[in-house]
Amino acid sequence: MQETIRNIKKVYQYGRAYKKNLIMLVIACISGTIVGVIIPLLTARQIVYFTSNMWIQLLSMSLIIFLAEAYKSFAAYFFTRKNNQHFTRNTMKNLQVALGDEILKISQKELDTNSSGMFIQRITNDTLKMTAFFWDSLNCLMRIFTNIGALFATFIINKPVFLYYLFVTIVLTYLHLVKTKKFGNKDIEFRNKTEKVSSLTGELVRGVRDIKMLNAKNNFMSILEDNIDTQNQKRIEMSEINGKYTFGIEFLRAVFEFGLVVLLIFLIQNQGLQMALAIALFNYKSGIMNVIMEKFSAFMQLIKDFNISCNRVFSILDNTTFEKETFGNKNLETLKGNLEFKNVNFEYIKDNPVLKDLSFKIQAGEMIGFVGKSGAGKTTIFNLICKMYNIKSGKILIENIDINELDEPSIRKNITIISQNPYIFNLSIRDNLKLVKDDLTDEQMHEACRIACLEDFINTLPNKYDTILGEGGVILSGGQKQRLAIARAFVQKTKIILFDESTSNLDNETQSEIQKAINNLKEKSTILIIAHRLSTIINCDKILLLENGKIVDQGTHEELLNRNISYQTLYKTEILE
Ligand code: ADP
Repeated sequence: MQETIRNIKKVYQYGRAYKKNLIMLVIACISGTIVGVIIPLLTARQIVYFTSNMWIQLLSMSLIIFLAEAYKSFAAYFFTRKNNQHFTRNTMKNLQVALGDEILKISQKELDTNSSGMFIQRITNDTLKMTAFFWDSLNCLMRIFTNIGALFATFIINKPVFLYYLFVTIVLTYLHLVKTKKFGNKDIEFRNKTEKVSSLTGELVRGVRDIKMLNAKNNFMSILEDNIDTQNQKRIEMSEINGKYTFGIEFLRAVFEFGLVVLLIFLIQNQGLQMALAIALFNYKSGIMNVIMEKFSAFMQLIKDFNISCNRVFSILDNTTFEKETFGNKNLETLKGNLEFKNVNFEYIKDNPVLKDLSFKIQAGEMIGFVGKSGAGKTTIFNLICKMYNIKSGKILIENIDINELDEPSIRKNITIISQNPYIFNLSIRDNLKLVKDDLTDEQMHEACRIACLEDFINTLPNKYDTILGEGGVILSGGQKQRLAIARAFVQKTKIILFDESTSNLDNETQSEIQKAINNLKEKSTILIIAHRLSTIINCDKILLLENGKIVDQGTHEELLNRNISYQTLYKTEILE
């Protein structure tokens, strides 16, 4: 109970601005409930007038009942619907935006080990459950109270029948509570499985090309099928419990109905109960026996669902489960581009070092190549320069300032990674560039695309700069994506560019255009390249040779080629291939 109240208060914080709608909703519910409680009482009096042949009173009572019913419908359809939509939708939006914000702050380490489906479910499904709870629970309570009104009506008409109904209500409600308890953690397990399935279906859609190319359709589908099976298993277990109890409850209800008929016959024969009143009392049975206990157990289930969703969402919003990125307070509006690693040690997994006592220094405006076998730690160095992960020991200095002291914009606005397959958004070329500079002018856009050697290509497109690029930039080739990312970096005027050269077989023309684009950025920015090609390596001011997370040698291409045997081997076996 305490947990629920605490969660209601927390969710309310996100819907505070729509307080008026919530108040109107509560007023509509309370007034609807009061009317709903009064109607059966009035109906009881109506029956008394009818059986006593009091026709004038009967007529006026019927009119009052009609007006009360009309108000109930009006409150339900106009007041509640409008205010509920306003409150629920806007509170949900605020929660979703806050969640999105927090997810963007979660550390890369946590993102690596958690599935995207989990986050998607929490943003969509859980926020909906949390906000819909307000109306759903009010609705449940409204029904419960309305039927308690019917119970009171029986109290006015006939005490023994009232006592019988009360006894039945208590027994059936108790059974429903036991059923909810039996469910235990099954619904939490079911939701966790649902997250897994949603994550896999996400991967199916995103990875459809690779799944086809790898001829992995059957294997992937069998993994998905297994997960859907376990998800279904949980659902079946829940439905079995539900089925067992529903059968028991239905059976008891039939017994109680039979008991009611016996009681009514007894009362008619021995206590002089009028037939019309007996029929009215009998007619209350469905409302009292079904709705109160069903709505009560639905209400309990709603509370449980609400709390599960709140725990899942607030574990992100309140920083209780997921480690967030941390930054310092120092702000550097612009950088020159000086960078240094001082005895850096780093590991993704405990006691599994990836970078070992790594030190190097790069001057602003230099173009540096990183070469080494796959797995040597090149991409890791780039990730650390962007502060995607925290180092174990040592120091990373940008403009001689420890990266841990810098605030987020100083790092993320001034450093760009251009990966082998940069993510291009399903927007136009113009909007992809505007993402990093919202006041981008046409001139700046043209200049960026000229520098990135993209202009000629864009001019061949039917809608030129307004061409929509498809999900992940699907209409672009690998080289074009990289060049668009170069244009993005140019627009952003980042001072440190980290370029992961594509290992795929780009044709010579594309390759030389990328090379030209990179050269166009030379001297404007410090450029670090994970280099795979001769043309790139020759252009670098310095090359760092990496082996098992250590720099084993550094110098120009000629120097390394003359003196370093592993560089010669690498150069012959990998780079030239
Ligand atoms: P390179 O770019 O030189 O091919 P990486 O920097 O990508 O090498 O990887 C260095 C080592 O770190 C590899 O052994 C790799 O398996 C491991 N690694 C890379 N990324 C992760 C990660 N997110 N979690 C755990 N290990 C990782």
